Amino acid sequence: MLKILVIEDDELIRETLLQLLESHSYRVIVAQNGRVGVQMALSEIPDLILCDVQMPEQDGYEVLRTLRQNSLAATIPFIFLTAQGGKTDFRRGMELGADDYLTKPFTKAELLGAIASRLSKRQTITQPLTVALQQAEARLKDLANDSTTTNAVSPEKLALEALLRRALAQGEFQVYYQPQVDIATGQIIGAEALVRWQNPDRGIISPAEFIPLAEDTGLIIPIGEWVLLSACAQTASWLAAGFSPFRISVNLSARQLSDPQLKARIVQILETTGLEPANLELEMTESAVVENATVAGTTLNELKALGIRIAVDDFGTGYATLGYLKQFAFDSLKIDQIFVRKANEDAQNAAITTAVILLGHSLNMTVVAEGVETEAELAFLKDQQCDIMQGYLFSRPEPAPIFESLLVANNRLFGQSLATVSTGVIPFVPLSEREKSKNLSSSGWEAV
Ligand code: C2E
Ligand code: MG
Ligand code: MG
Repeated sequence: MLKILVIEDDELIRETLLQLLESHSYRVIVAQNGRVGVQMALSEIPDLILCDVQMPEQDGYEVLRTLRQNSLAATIPFIFLTAQGGKTDFRRGMELGADDYLTKPFTKAELLGAIASRLSKRQTITQPLTVALQQAEARLKDLANDSTTTNAVSPEKLALEALLRRALAQGEFQVYYQPQVDIATGQIIGAEALVRWQNPDRGIISPAEFIPLAEDTGLIIPIGEWVLLSACAQTASWLAAGFSPFRISVNLSARQLSDPQLKARIVQILETTGLEPANLELEMTESAVVENATVAGTTLNELKALGIRIAVDDFGTGYATLGYLKQFAFDSLKIDQIFVRKANEDAQNAAITTAVILLGHSLNMTVVAEGVETEAELAFLKDQQCDIMQGYLFSRPEPAPIFESLLVANNRLFGQSLATVSTGVIPFVPLSEREKSKNLSSSGWEAV
């Protein structure tokens, strides 16, 4: 029996909801305030939470914020019940990761419909993911004990290797997702998967810090494989839930590219997760390709033959010659953020960015601008006909549940959205901290 937690300070509403939901065969637990609600959510892990917005002490937003930061409760579907129907409140709820927002008074049918839709979506999303992740965890345990994946020699490397192995075995890695947005329309058409290491002592450690060390110790192979598997499983479930078009970009390091097992592993991951090769893009830097030109060339051709797309990451920062662009026939080219930075006012960056866009297009590549932080940079890129943007202006990399709420909001604008948009309910707002107050229409993107 599915379990629903109702957090509501008004006794009459609480009782009415309890009776209604129990009569529809849900198991219902109730909390009379936000503090008790958070405790019950963490101890009971319900299948769905209905929560009032306005409550004394801890309001609904505070409850949601607390739960979304807790890995046990971060993905529980959360529906706000509120007497306020304002756009600002709605936006605040969605930014925090709410799944739906019902304005009182609502009908029984509206409530039951919203609950059923969130529960069935959760099933579509979590089932394949759970299966794939269980398989990944089993494999990670093998890899974490496999001493052939390392070349470490110095004591520092050994210590780090031990830390990384522990991180692998204890599941301290997480995949964050950063949207990739079609510049012409403002639609999210994919995401880059970016690994994060949540160390119990040091908090979140950036990949820039540990990837080079993981490369040195060889542990990048199991870490990279885990990232690929998680990101592919997550993407397959987003596609199954109707978020389309959607492509996931995953980074590959030099060491992974020279791994003779790479292609077989990727094929296995696609089979396990059911993701179509066309929905996967692999990013690699020009240096990583050039360092392993022979092996990488063969591997790249095999991956491309499967239908997987290949992107050159951080374009312009490596030491490769342009000849390799011709040799490897990449699908996308990502302009490094150092060139995108202030391209609207810095004459040199403007010249480089414009030239790279022209070069990419003339070689039939999709051009992606990385690290877009300002409206002015975006306007410049739009003028230069750059295809896709990624950057804090739209959103920072976020954990899957928060990214999913971005997808939900964006989908309403572009998918089944026409009815919703015409009622004027959801102006979309980028989630980034810095740009919270701006919205898409001020970026030159209009709702369809
Ligand atoms: P990258 O692949 O070039 O990823 C883009 C980096 O730029 C990310 O840093 C992202 O958070 C950051 N970024 C995105 N938008 C903005 C912006 O508007 N402003 C600024 N200042 N930064 C922005 P992150 O996540 O720290 O990753 C750093 C690098 O670590 C990545 O660079 C990639 O090379 C590597 N990396 C991350 N995850 C993986 C992974 O799973 N496998 C491998 N092999 N490498 C990874
Ligand atoms: Mg990348
Ligand atoms: Mg990059």
